[in-house]
Amino acid sequence: MSPFQVDKEGYFGHFGGVYVPEILQPCVKALGDCYRQIIDSEDFRQEYEALLRDYVGRPSPLYLSKSLSKLHGCKIYLKREDLNHTGAHKINNAIGQILLARRMGKKRIVAETGAGQHGVATATVCALMDMPCVVYMGATDVERQRPNVEKMRLLGAEVVPVQSGNKTLKDACNEAIRDWCCHPSDTYYLIGSTMGPHPYPDLVARMQSVISKEIRKQLLEKEGRETPDYLVACIGGGSNAAGTIFHFLDDLDVKIVLAEAGGKGVETGETAATLAAGTEGVLHGSRSLVIQDEDGQVIEPYSISAGLDYPGIGPLHAHIVRTGRATAMPINDDEALAAAYELNRLDGILPALESAHALGALHKLKFRPEDVVVLTLSGRGDKDMATYLKHAKDFVK
Ligand SMILES: *Cc1c(COP(=O)(O)O)cnc(C)c1O
Repeated sequence: MSPFQVDKEGYFGHFGGVYVPEILQPCVKALGDCYRQIIDSEDFRQEYEALLRDYVGRPSPLYLSKSLSKLHGCKIYLKREDLNHTGAHKINNAIGQILLARRMGKKRIVAETGAGQHGVATATVCALMDMPCVVYMGATDVERQRPNVEKMRLLGAEVVPVQSGNKTLKDACNEAIRDWCCHPSDTYYLIGSTMGPHPYPDLVARMQSVISKEIRKQLLEKEGRETPDYLVACIGGGSNAAGTIFHFLDDLDVKIVLAEAGGKGVETGETAATLAAGTEGVLHGSRSLVIQDEDGQVIEPYSISAGLDYPGIGPLHAHIVRTGRATAMPINDDEALAAAYELNRLDGILPALESAHALGALHKLKFRPEDVVVLTLSGRGDKDMATYLKHAKDFVK
């Protein structure tokens, strides 16, 4: 078995597992027992693939950026998840999980959201499937992310502001888990990233793995080979990165670079760079790396990008970085901003602030002329317009 796949107990190396309250153990186990059989079935695959094609707009293009290639002295392809319906990769996972929930006979969906992107994706698929949807969101985030809150409500979802803790993403996760505990039989918890108790990290990675499946096929057409020299993706909880690397993990010649949010700098403490600053701990149902103090209290993370400021990281990513299969690279706010304005001017593509961290990583790598690089553009930048306008005077000549 591949050392990068989840084992029977739900671990990637010694990260992962199931750390949930006793009342939830039966639901998590029921999901763990049936998910592979359902998502590998012909019936599921057909419905999932048809929706990805006709509703999401897949396959997403693999675009050779001539200007970025020239700038970095190699070949740089952008995997265009920004062109998906709802503007990011999150819809791939939301569609897959709602189809799974229906096949498990669930009647109600709950989800957590930070920046609101996963909440919007979940509310979207609940509208599509006509299922009631409750989205938990920290009260601070409800204030900061008004447009996404309005979108979710328009789609018919109930958005519940969470008043506990720092009123941000981790508090929203806790509340969603609490709801699931209260309604374990009819409710499905639709997690937004490769985190949480087993089987979620593996389940979400598989739902996003369509990204790497397409990259292999597209590279073969364009380059005559299925594998690139580098894969680059940004990482919050880890889902777009997991999707990008899934079908390449055993190709050890493919270098994997994970760009995490350095914030104002890892050494300043105002950071969300969990792979650099985190230590081992348990958060939201699994053992992974966590930004925490000596007493195990989670430290509130910081990043200019709302989608990356999560204090944890998926167990798969903790495992591949700690074992040397992947390299983590913290990219600070100013580096991400500069890279976003750069792509906008060079290619006419305004990336999401999250994806801009992956673009920032290009400036820290040394390429050979023959290198082929695939970078996943996880989302589009419309949602970040206010931030881009605010900082434009410091970056745009
Ligand atoms: C949510 C989000 C991310 C971060 O989440 P991952 O699970 O790490 O992929 C990155 N990019 C965009 C556009 C997002 O919306």
